[in-house]
Amino acid sequence: MIEAVKNKIVDELEKVVGSEFVSTNQADLYIYSYDLTPAESHWPDIVVLPQSPEELRAIITLANKEKMPVIPYVAGGNVGGLTIPLEGGIVLDLKRMNRIIEVNETDMYAVVEPGVTFGQIKAYLEKNHPTLRYTYAFSPSSTGVMTNALVQGLDNLSFRYGDASHWVSGLEVILTTGELIKIGSCAASKTWQAIVPFPELDGLFLGWQGTTGVITKMAVSIWPNPPHNTAVTFMAMDLESADEILKAIIRTRIPDDLIGTSFALNKVGMAAYAHEKASLHPALHREPDEPEFVITAEVTGNTENELNAKVEAMGEAVKERCKDGNYTGPDTIPSTTAAFPMQALGVLSSGGGLMWVGTYGPMSRWLETVKKGCELQDKYDISRTCYTRIMNEGHFVGLRWMLPYDKGDPALVQRINDLCAEQLDLVLETGYIPYKTPVWAVRRLEEVVGPDWLKLHRRVKEMLDPNNIMNPGRWGKPGK
Ligand SMILES: Cc1cc2nc3c(=O)[nH]c(=O)nc-3n(C[C@H](O)[C@H](O)[C@H](O)COP(=O)(O)OP(=O)(O)OC[C@H]3O[C@@H](n4cnc5c(N)ncnc54)[C@H](O)[C@@H]3O)c2cc1C
Repeated sequence: MIEAVKNKIVDELEKVVGSEFVSTNQADLYIYSYDLTPAESHWPDIVVLPQSPEELRAIITLANKEKMPVIPYVAGGNVGGLTIPLEGGIVLDLKRMNRIIEVNETDMYAVVEPGVTFGQIKAYLEKNHPTLRYTYAFSPSSTGVMTNALVQGLDNLSFRYGDASHWVSGLEVILTTGELIKIGSCAASKTWQAIVPFPELDGLFLGWQGTTGVITKMAVSIWPNPPHNTAVTFMAMDLESADEILKAIIRTRIPDDLIGTSFALNKVGMAAYAHEKASLHPALHREPDEPEFVITAEVTGNTENELNAKVEAMGEAVKERCKDGNYTGPDTIPSTTAAFPMQALGVLSSGGGLMWVGTYGPMSRWLETVKKGCELQDKYDISRTCYTRIMNEGHFVGLRWMLPYDKGDPALVQRINDLCAEQLDLVLETGYIPYKTPVWAVRRLEEVVGPDWLKLHRRVKEMLDPNNIMNPGRWGKPGK
């Protein structure tokens, strides 16, 4: 960018937010230029940290006038390169907009600003509304509630209620024109209970990765917090048994959360399990007498009796369906609900990198997809690290192979990239669609969705962002 233009924009931004919240310092910009994944790094020109919708509106209007890219950012923890500024421009760091504006106990929703984190809402509800809870991802507690919903996250109530964008009950958004609009019941009333019965305009912003506008407020559903809970585990000796156990539990409709993981994940925690020198870590490899897959169902009850009855019914359902299955269980262990296990397990200490092909797909093709994806991990001599979460009572499934890696090891980075490229081909073949779609997968998806889908998608993007300033180069229009 021409220096004089940049200086002029910086002057304007400083007038809006104050000079302490605008930076062009390379040390400040560096952290926005990369993320956990091996995605190519790109630097922003400016970072700005607004505190109010009014400041945001002034920034967006200025950027639109100057045709300058704007990349909304909260923690950059999306594991898809989604906040790397592909075409430079202004990173809009929204951490200072972190108010929990309202919690409505009766209608069970919370209205939050973009910077509100999982850790913050958990602490807030525990202190002020202990009979209610939000849902929690496996991501670090510093990542955003709103961002997780707008990237359609999978969380620990997803078995009951589906992905996080499905429990958004209202939005306030700033368009590139500077218009501030409300979506859902909040457009016509003081309460934020539901998007319906309006046309579902939230779809213009959810799942778009910040490419169509900036969300300034979001209402998310919160849920009763039953006093009794436990986790029920089954150890499957092969993937066929795991598939059957999951299908049996799905039909009970009992758990709050239903996940499955390759045994390596459980065995050694999350540290360094995809390390190049896997053979130096014998614990990473499954011994013949060890299980292939661990299934965990989180169960809650209003009374001890209700909890016990649920656990028993689930065990019976598995026993009935999996007569020929090779597994042990059920066993009960303390619930890990909302304990932020990723944080505790130190996943980020394995050399700074984390990558995956994360997908949503059909349970009907789970077994074949998991098998082939794990075989690809064998081919690349990377420990099996499959992780799956059953969504919306089994109507679809979250599936990924988690790959922590050492960013300082170019050969390993190449291997991880090659593995992911092959896993992407595999999942597209079996009907699994990459979520929080990284740009390299967007371009592949665009090849398979068909020209009319693409035309409509681009038309929507152009209508909302005619100057293509919002997180450009991703959904909607190829990069420069
Ligand atoms: C170890 C680890 C484990 C994880 N496990 C899970 C998991 O189990 N489930 C899960 O769902 N996710 C998981 N994630 C991914 C991630 O935590 C979530 O997607 C997360 O909520 C993204 O939050 P963030 O605050 O870092 O968002 P960012 O990465 O900062 O932003 C995400 C996207 O939202 C856009 N955006 C930001 N603010 C706005 C706004 N106000 N308006 C419009 N667009 C905006 C950004 O441009 C970007 O495209 C995990 C991440 C890590 C690191």
